[in-house]
Amino acid sequence: MDERSSGSWSQCLHAIQQKIQGQSFETWFAPITARQFTSEQAVLEVPDSFFADWLEENYIGLIKATIYEVFAWHPRITFAVDETPPVKHAPSFIPEAPPHSTSSTPPLRVFSPESQPVQPVFPLNPRYRFDNFVVGESNEVSFSAAMVTAESPGQTAFNPLVLYGGVGLGKTHILQAIGAYCIEIGTAQRVVYVTAEKFLTDYLDGINRGTTSNFYQTYRQADVLLVDDIQFYVKTEGCQREFIHTFNALYQADKQIIISSDRPPSHLKGFEDRLISRFQWGLVTNIEAPDLSTRIEILMQKAEEMGISLVQEIASFLAERINTNIRELEGALKRLVAFTKLQGYPLTIETVRKTLLSPPQKTKPTVSIESIQKAAANFFEIPLEKLVGATRKQDVTTARHVSMYLSKSLTGAPLKTIGLQFGNRDHSTVIHACRRVESKISTDSTFEHLVSQLQDHIVG
Ligand code: ADP
Ligand code: MG
Repeated sequence: MDERSSGSWSQCLHAIQQKIQGQSFETWFAPITARQFTSEQAVLEVPDSFFADWLEENYIGLIKATIYEVFAWHPRITFAVDETPPVKHAPSFIPEAPPHSTSSTPPLRVFSPESQPVQPVFPLNPRYRFDNFVVGESNEVSFSAAMVTAESPGQTAFNPLVLYGGVGLGKTHILQAIGAYCIEIGTAQRVVYVTAEKFLTDYLDGINRGTTSNFYQTYRQADVLLVDDIQFYVKTEGCQREFIHTFNALYQADKQIIISSDRPPSHLKGFEDRLISRFQWGLVTNIEAPDLSTRIEILMQKAEEMGISLVQEIASFLAERINTNIRELEGALKRLVAFTKLQGYPLTIETVRKTLLSPPQKTKPTVSIESIQKAAANFFEIPLEKLVGATRKQDVTTARHVSMYLSKSLTGAPLKTIGLQFGNRDHSTVIHACRRVESKISTDSTFEHLVSQLQDHIVG
């Protein structure tokens, strides 16, 4: 870029600065540089194509008018963006080199005004750490990749790091542990953990309320962005485009992106190819179901965290019978402990046999959807009619969501039945409620505590 043309553009920038608010100027104009700027042609360099679209839609008139005011020029205006991923160096044990382009184009400066020392941006659940994550054959590759990434976020070929695996196998645990570890050892300041669903809601809220710059400040300034359950990302074109722009902005700035999914990226339905291919630029790794010895070890670990002593024999008994996933395993242990406390039984193999092998209605005779609703209405101090009614007030909605979630997890009733009993709602409403509660539980330990308190009221 020659001196004279860039000087000219800065005169225009100065004139624009007089016309619009400080924040908008900083956000949308300060990062623009001129690659070419003559009376015929203005090539303005911007951080990414979202930026270009935004300027095109909102500020092109202002830009044209200002250039005319300052120079009496009518140049053709184009925006230049570079989407080429920069080359990274692979650590020695990477199975194969990721398909990075070897283009020599330097990566463009990325949209990142001052970073603020917020840590982490959303609360992480302190239960999810590397030091209480049990490593076995089923998860050791994912675990090491997670460790390496947390030690040098954005600096390895594991960008993005994509962890996939079935429900309850530890994806959220690892994601949050990465975030916590980065903060602990100081390799990242702005750690942003978000479910794909929340990312989407925040984006749409930003658009509806005209506060997209808050959205960008949160997500595009992350040092480490952890996106959980990408399979729930709603796949409209605009939303996918936004995800790509966020991805590009972070990637080009050597920031770390970590994604979890319930299936390999190539099996994700309805995602654009260019998004799927980005998921495969780094490392994709699978978390499998744990083998018996790992399941036993996990049980012992969980018991220790719960402050109870569990003999190996009982751990083996449980682990041999529950081989679906770790959440179930943990659930069985919690039920067992609750049961022994409630009945005053000792924690022996006999008790375990009784709890585990007797049909659920014998061990939990009182749990019905009605009893959950009653307990929730009491607990949240909301009239029962409101709980199952149509009101959308925040506190009532939260209570309703939690009640639906507990109805699903405690009674095992079909979603349809639960929906019916909650004011004849659709089963998809129940699914949505359960997901929101699960996601809040995994990020908000106060909320997690609240739900378990309510649960105690129901069982007791
Ligand atoms: P996912 O996100 O894959 O559905 P989670 O991360 O929520 O699964 O894990 C479910 C439960 O199992 C959590 O309580 C988590 O702490 C526990 N868990 C999963 N894997 C492990 C492991 N390897 N060691 C210890 N706990 C684990
Ligand atoms: Mg999860």
